[in-house]
Amino acid sequence: MHIELTEMLRCPERHEEGYLVMSTGEMLGRMVRSGTLGCPICQREFPIVKGIAHFSGKGKGETGNVQDDRATIPVSRFPFPAVEAASLQALLDLSGPGGYVLLLGSAARHAVGLAALIGGVHFVGVNAPDDVEELPVLSLLACETMIPLRQTVVRAAVVGPDRLGPEWLAEARRVLLPGRRLVVESEQIAAPAGLARLVLGHGLFVGERR
Ligand SMILES: [Zn+2]
Repeated sequence: MHIELTEMLRCPERHEEGYLVMSTGEMLGRMVRSGTLGCPICQREFPIVKGIAHFSGKGKGETGNVQDDRATIPVSRFPFPAVEAASLQALLDLSGPGGYVLLLGSAARHAVGLAALIGGVHFVGVNAPDDVEELPVLSLLACETMIPLRQTVVRAAVVGPDRLGPEWLAEARRVLLPGRRLVVESEQIAAPAGLARLVLGHGLFVGERR
């Protein structure tokens, strides 16, 4: 993960947001390949292994009884995104450099296409498929209980068809900046509170955070 993303992260435990503390091991440019993220509030530690920050798994303060529902989540068999990057860029109202864009679940596959259209944006893939690899423009985080980002830090979000549960949609809305857009790769969803529907069709839901 990109070292500057550290200040956007939060601990997945249900306490106040706080900030995480990074201890770096191996670096590759600005990307942290190995290291540890620590929470000063609950003392939990999260390893960064092969570039991926892991927020699930046992640690201090966790009971180990958290439900692991990975086995029940349908995995997309389609290796390429159904929606084109240019359409996605327009729907997300993404123009101009800077900031962070959340790609949840298999939506991480859009990072390469979107990065080719808009420079200077950093993508954050949360629970990306195993075959999606870290890039200088893409940080990867893994967490089965929440999106481990602070609230209102991303300028756009894309939710993949493997993360349509209401808890994930509410999380995507939580991290989105007010007035910014979220695209869900499905029409069969219930929009979370605080998200205005802009478009529904062609297999997509587009909403804007109020
Ligand atoms: Zn914590």
